[in-house]
Amino acid sequence: MDADNHVNLLSLRDIYKIYTIGGQEVHALDGVCLEVNVGEFVAIMGPSGSGKSTLMNMIGCLDVPTSGTYKIDGVEVSTLDGDALAAIRNRKIGFVFQGFNLIARTSALENVELPLMYGQQGDRKAAATAALVRVGLGDRLDHTSSELSGGQQQRVAIARAIVSKPRLILADEPTGNISTLQSEEIMQIFQQLNDDGVTIVMVTHEEDIARHCKRRVDMRDGKVVGDGPVKDRLMAGDVIEQLKRPLVAEPAAVPAGV
Ligand code: ADP
Ligand code: MG
Repeated sequence: MDADNHVNLLSLRDIYKIYTIGGQEVHALDGVCLEVNVGEFVAIMGPSGSGKSTLMNMIGCLDVPTSGTYKIDGVEVSTLDGDALAAIRNRKIGFVFQGFNLIARTSALENVELPLMYGQQGDRKAAATAALVRVGLGDRLDHTSSELSGGQQQRVAIARAIVSKPRLILADEPTGNISTLQSEEIMQIFQQLNDDGVTIVMVTHEEDIARHCKRRVDMRDGKVVGDGPVKDRLMAGDVIEQLKRPLVAEPAAVPAGV
Protein backbone atom coordinates (compact mmCIF):
# COMPACT_ATOMS: atom_id res chain seq x y z
CA MET A 1 0.00 0.00 0.00
CA ASP A 2 1.09 3.54 -0.82
CA ALA A 3 2.55 5.25 2.25
CA ASP A 4 0.40 8.32 1.51
CA ASN A 5 -2.68 6.26 2.28
CA HIS A 6 -1.99 6.76 5.96
CA VAL A 7 -1.93 10.53 5.79
CA ASN A 8 -5.11 12.18 6.99
CA LEU A 9 -6.50 14.72 4.52
CA LEU A 10 -9.95 15.54 5.95
CA SER A 11 -10.95 15.40 9.59
CA LEU A 12 -14.48 16.44 10.55
CA ARG A 13 -15.42 16.16 14.22
CA ASP A 14 -18.93 16.66 15.59
CA ILE A 15 -20.02 18.90 12.75
CA TYR A 16 -23.42 20.55 13.18
CA LYS A 17 -25.11 22.79 10.64
CA ILE A 18 -28.36 24.25 11.87
CA TYR A 19 -30.57 26.45 9.72
CA THR A 20 -33.32 28.47 11.37
CA ILE A 21 -36.28 29.04 9.11
CA GLY A 22 -39.44 30.76 10.41
CA GLY A 23 -38.32 30.08 13.99
CA GLN A 24 -37.84 26.36 13.24
CA GLU A 25 -34.46 24.69 13.40
CA VAL A 26 -33.34 22.38 10.61
CA HIS A 27 -30.42 20.16 11.57
CA ALA A 28 -28.89 19.75 8.10
CA LEU A 29 -25.84 18.15 9.73
CA ASP A 30 -26.36 16.60 13.12
CA GLY A 31 -23.02 15.63 14.63
CA VAL A 32 -21.07 14.32 11.65
CA CYS A 33 -17.66 12.73 12.17
CA LEU A 34 -15.67 11.76 9.09
CA GLU A 35 -11.99 11.03 8.51
CA VAL A 36 -10.66 10.74 4.96
CA ASN A 37 -7.07 9.80 4.16
CA VAL A 38 -5.03 10.73 1.11
CA GLY A 39 -5.82 8.42 -1.80
CA GLU A 40 -9.32 7.45 -0.72
CA PHE A 41 -12.29 7.42 -3.11
CA VAL A 42 -15.47 7.93 -1.09
CA ALA A 43 -19.10 7.72 -2.19
CA ILE A 44 -21.58 9.68 -0.08
CA MET A 45 -25.09 8.22 -0.35
CA GLY A 46 -28.44 8.92 1.27
CA PRO A 47 -31.98 10.05 0.53
CA SER A 48 -32.82 13.55 -0.61
CA GLY A 49 -32.55 16.01 2.28
CA SER A 50 -30.19 13.82 4.33
CA GLY A 51 -27.44 16.47 4.29
CA LYS A 52 -25.15 15.29 1.50
CA SER A 53 -24.80 18.64 -0.25
CA THR A 54 -24.45 20.49 3.05
CA LEU A 55 -21.62 18.11 3.97
CA MET A 56 -19.94 18.68 0.60
CA ASN A 57 -20.18 22.45 1.12
CA MET A 58 -18.40 22.06 4.47
CA ILE A 59 -15.71 19.79 3.06
CA GLY A 60 -15.25 22.18 0.14
CA CYS A 61 -14.85 25.23 2.41
CA LEU A 62 -17.88 26.83 0.74
CA ASP A 63 -19.65 27.11 4.09
CA VAL A 64 -18.73 26.95 7.77
CA PRO A 65 -20.39 24.72 10.38
CA THR A 66 -22.57 26.00 13.22
CA SER A 67 -20.27 24.03 15.52
CA GLY A 68 -17.61 21.36 15.34
CA THR A 69 -14.08 21.27 14.02
CA TYR A 70 -12.82 20.62 10.52
CA LYS A 71 -9.21 20.17 9.50
CA ILE A 72 -8.04 19.88 5.94
CA ASP A 73 -4.43 18.81 5.53
CA GLY A 74 -3.97 19.47 9.26
CA VAL A 75 -5.20 23.10 9.03
CA GLU A 76 -8.23 24.02 11.14
CA VAL A 77 -10.61 25.73 8.73
CA SER A 78 -13.90 26.00 10.65
CA THR A 79 -12.85 29.38 12.06
CA LEU A 80 -11.29 30.91 8.93
CA ASP A 81 -12.81 33.94 7.19
CA GLY A 82 -14.04 34.05 3.60
CA ASP A 83 -10.75 35.07 1.98
CA ALA A 84 -8.77 32.40 3.80
CA LEU A 85 -11.33 29.76 2.87
CA ALA A 86 -11.19 30.85 -0.77
CA ALA A 87 -7.41 30.51 -0.74
CA ILE A 88 -7.65 26.93 0.54
CA ARG A 89 -10.34 26.10 -2.02
CA ASN A 90 -8.27 27.45 -4.90
CA ARG A 91 -5.11 25.66 -3.83
CA LYS A 92 -6.38 22.26 -2.78
CA ILE A 93 -9.84 21.48 -4.13
CA GLY A 94 -11.41 20.84 -7.53
CA PHE A 95 -15.22 20.91 -7.78
CA VAL A 96 -17.45 18.99 -10.18
CA PHE A 97 -21.21 19.59 -10.04
CA GLN A 98 -24.18 17.95 -11.69
CA GLY A 99 -25.05 21.04 -13.73
CA PHE A 100 -21.50 21.39 -15.19
CA ASN A 101 -21.60 25.21 -14.65
CA LEU A 102 -19.67 25.91 -17.84
CA ILE A 103 -19.75 29.38 -19.32
CA ALA A 104 -21.96 29.46 -22.40
CA ARG A 105 -20.65 30.55 -25.81
CA THR A 106 -17.11 30.06 -24.50
CA SER A 107 -14.75 27.37 -25.75
CA ALA A 108 -13.81 24.30 -23.73
CA LEU A 109 -10.24 25.61 -23.62
CA GLU A 110 -11.26 29.01 -22.20
CA ASN A 111 -13.54 27.37 -19.63
CA VAL A 112 -10.66 25.23 -18.39
CA GLU A 113 -8.17 28.13 -18.39
CA LEU A 114 -10.46 30.17 -16.17
CA PRO A 115 -9.28 28.91 -12.73
CA LEU A 116 -5.67 29.65 -13.69
CA MET A 117 -5.44 33.25 -12.59
CA TYR A 118 -1.67 33.46 -12.59
CA GLY A 119 1.08 32.63 -15.04
CA GLN A 120 1.77 33.43 -18.67
CA GLN A 121 -1.09 33.13 -21.11
CA GLY A 122 0.86 30.51 -23.08
CA ASP A 123 1.43 28.44 -19.95
CA ARG A 124 -2.25 28.65 -19.02
CA LYS A 125 -3.22 27.47 -22.48
CA ALA A 126 -0.76 24.57 -22.29
CA ALA A 127 -2.08 23.50 -18.88
CA ALA A 128 -5.71 23.72 -20.01
CA THR A 129 -4.92 21.76 -23.18
CA ALA A 130 -3.20 19.05 -21.15
CA ALA A 131 -6.20 18.79 -18.81
CA LEU A 132 -8.61 18.46 -21.75
CA VAL A 133 -6.40 15.83 -23.39
CA ARG A 134 -6.42 13.97 -20.08
CA VAL A 135 -10.23 13.74 -20.13
CA GLY A 136 -10.23 12.65 -23.77
CA LEU A 137 -11.26 15.97 -25.32
CA GLY A 138 -8.02 16.91 -27.08
CA ASP A 139 -10.01 17.17 -30.32
CA ARG A 140 -12.72 19.43 -28.86
CA LEU A 141 -10.69 22.37 -27.54
CA ASP A 142 -12.56 25.04 -29.50
CA HIS A 143 -16.08 23.63 -29.08
CA THR A 144 -18.56 25.60 -26.98
CA SER A 145 -20.94 23.92 -24.50
CA SER A 146 -23.82 23.80 -26.97
CA GLU A 147 -21.55 21.90 -29.36
CA LEU A 148 -20.81 19.18 -26.79
CA SER A 149 -22.88 16.30 -25.38
CA GLY A 150 -23.77 16.22 -21.68
CA GLY A 151 -21.02 13.70 -21.00
CA GLN A 152 -18.49 15.83 -22.86
CA GLN A 153 -19.56 18.94 -20.94
CA GLN A 154 -19.04 17.06 -17.71
CA ARG A 155 -15.56 16.07 -18.91
CA VAL A 156 -14.79 19.75 -19.57
CA ALA A 157 -15.93 20.43 -16.01
CA ILE A 158 -13.55 17.73 -14.75
CA ALA A 159 -10.71 19.21 -16.79
CA ARG A 160 -11.47 22.59 -15.21
CA ALA A 161 -11.43 20.94 -11.76
CA ILE A 162 -8.04 19.26 -12.29
CA VAL A 163 -6.20 22.01 -14.21
CA SER A 164 -4.78 23.49 -11.01
CA LYS A 165 -3.73 20.01 -9.84
CA PRO A 166 -5.80 19.78 -6.63
CA ARG A 167 -5.19 17.00 -4.12
CA LEU A 168 -8.93 16.66 -3.53
CA ILE A 169 -11.85 16.44 -5.95
CA LEU A 170 -15.38 16.98 -4.68
CA ALA A 171 -18.16 15.87 -6.99
CA ASP A 172 -21.90 16.27 -6.28
CA GLU A 173 -23.94 13.89 -8.48
CA PRO A 174 -21.44 14.12 -11.36
CA THR A 175 -23.26 11.43 -13.36
CA GLY A 176 -26.77 12.80 -12.90
CA ASN A 177 -28.57 13.42 -16.20
CA ILE A 178 -26.11 11.63 -18.49
CA SER A 179 -26.28 8.27 -20.25
CA THR A 180 -24.94 5.01 -18.82
CA LEU A 181 -21.95 4.88 -21.17
CA GLN A 182 -21.10 8.53 -20.55
CA SER A 183 -21.39 7.95 -16.78
CA GLU A 184 -18.92 5.07 -17.05
CA GLU A 185 -16.52 7.29 -19.01
CA ILE A 186 -16.75 9.88 -16.23
CA MET A 187 -16.12 7.19 -13.59
CA GLN A 188 -13.16 5.89 -15.61
CA ILE A 189 -11.58 9.36 -15.48
CA PHE A 190 -12.19 9.55 -11.73
CA GLN A 191 -10.71 6.08 -11.20
CA GLN A 192 -7.60 7.06 -13.19
CA LEU A 193 -7.22 10.29 -11.22
CA ASN A 194 -7.61 8.34 -7.99
CA ASP A 195 -4.99 5.80 -9.17
CA ASP A 196 -2.68 8.80 -9.64
CA GLY A 197 -3.17 9.74 -5.99
CA VAL A 198 -6.01 12.29 -6.12
CA THR A 199 -8.45 11.90 -3.23
CA ILE A 200 -12.10 11.94 -4.34
CA VAL A 201 -15.31 12.44 -2.39
CA MET A 202 -18.42 12.03 -4.51
CA VAL A 203 -22.15 12.26 -3.84
CA THR A 204 -24.32 9.86 -5.80
CA HIS A 205 -27.73 8.26 -5.41
CA GLU A 206 -26.91 5.45 -7.85
CA GLU A 207 -25.76 2.15 -6.32
CA ASP A 208 -23.85 1.16 -9.46
CA ILE A 209 -21.94 4.43 -9.49
CA ALA A 210 -21.08 4.10 -5.79
CA ARG A 211 -19.60 0.66 -6.55
CA HIS A 212 -16.84 2.36 -8.58
CA CYS A 213 -15.59 4.03 -5.40
CA LYS A 214 -13.52 2.38 -2.66
CA ARG A 215 -15.53 3.41 0.39
CA ARG A 216 -19.17 4.18 0.95
CA VAL A 217 -20.64 6.54 3.56
CA ASP A 218 -24.41 6.52 4.11
CA MET A 219 -26.25 9.54 5.50
CA ARG A 220 -29.70 9.96 6.97
CA ASP A 221 -31.24 12.95 8.76
CA GLY A 222 -27.91 14.78 8.89
CA LYS A 223 -26.06 11.83 10.44
CA VAL A 224 -23.59 9.27 9.14
CA VAL A 225 -25.41 5.95 9.53
CA GLY A 226 -23.03 3.68 7.61
CA ASP A 227 -19.37 3.74 6.64
CA GLY A 228 -17.30 0.94 5.13
CA PRO A 229 -15.35 -0.41 2.17
CA VAL A 230 -17.11 -0.99 -1.16
CA LYS A 231 -17.57 -4.67 -1.86
CA ASP A 232 -17.37 -6.04 -5.44
CA ARG A 233 -15.86 -2.85 -6.79
CA LEU A 234 -16.65 -2.10 -10.44
CA MET A 235 -13.88 -0.93 -12.77
CA ALA A 236 -15.27 1.46 -15.38
CA GLY A 237 -12.97 0.10 -18.10
CA ASP A 238 -14.52 -3.38 -17.75
CA VAL A 239 -18.06 -2.02 -17.76
CA ILE A 240 -17.36 0.11 -20.86
CA GLU A 241 -15.97 -2.94 -22.66
CA GLN A 242 -19.16 -4.84 -21.85
CA LEU A 243 -21.40 -1.97 -22.93
CA LYS A 244 -19.59 -1.67 -26.25
CA ARG A 245 -19.52 -5.40 -26.97
CA PRO A 246 -21.93 -6.06 -29.83
CA LEU A 247 -24.90 -8.14 -28.84
CA VAL A 248 -24.40 -11.59 -30.33
CA ALA A 249 -27.78 -12.52 -31.73
CA GLU A 250 -28.89 -16.11 -31.92
CA PRO A 251 -28.86 -17.19 -35.56
CA ALA A 252 -32.38 -16.67 -36.84
CA ALA A 253 -34.29 -19.85 -37.40
CA VAL A 254 -34.72 -20.54 -41.08
CA PRO A 255 -38.44 -20.81 -41.80
CA ALA A 256 -39.40 -24.23 -43.08
CA GLY A 257 -39.92 -24.46 -46.82
CA VAL A 258 -37.66 -21.54 -47.80
P1 ADP B 1 -29.21 16.43 0.25
O1 ADP B 1 -28.09 17.02 -0.56
O2 ADP B 1 -28.86 15.13 0.91
O3 ADP B 1 -30.47 16.30 -0.56
P2 ADP B 1 -29.11 18.95 1.70
O4 ADP B 1 -27.77 18.99 2.31
O5 ADP B 1 -29.32 19.75 0.48
O6 ADP B 1 -29.55 17.43 1.46
O7 ADP B 1 -30.17 19.44 2.78
C1 ADP B 1 -30.23 18.89 4.10
C2 ADP B 1 -31.35 19.59 4.87
O8 ADP B 1 -31.00 20.95 5.10
C3 ADP B 1 -32.67 19.62 4.13
O9 ADP B 1 -33.71 19.49 5.08
C4 ADP B 1 -32.68 21.00 3.52
O10 ADP B 1 -34.00 21.44 3.34
C5 ADP B 1 -31.95 21.83 4.54
N1 ADP B 1 -31.19 22.95 3.93
C6 ADP B 1 -30.15 22.85 3.06
N2 ADP B 1 -29.68 24.06 2.73
C7 ADP B 1 -30.44 24.95 3.39
C8 ADP B 1 -30.46 26.39 3.46
N3 ADP B 1 -29.57 27.14 2.80
N4 ADP B 1 -31.38 26.97 4.25
C9 ADP B 1 -32.24 26.22 4.95
N5 ADP B 1 -32.29 24.88 4.94
C10 ADP B 1 -31.41 24.24 4.17
MG1 MG C 1 -27.98 17.49 -2.62
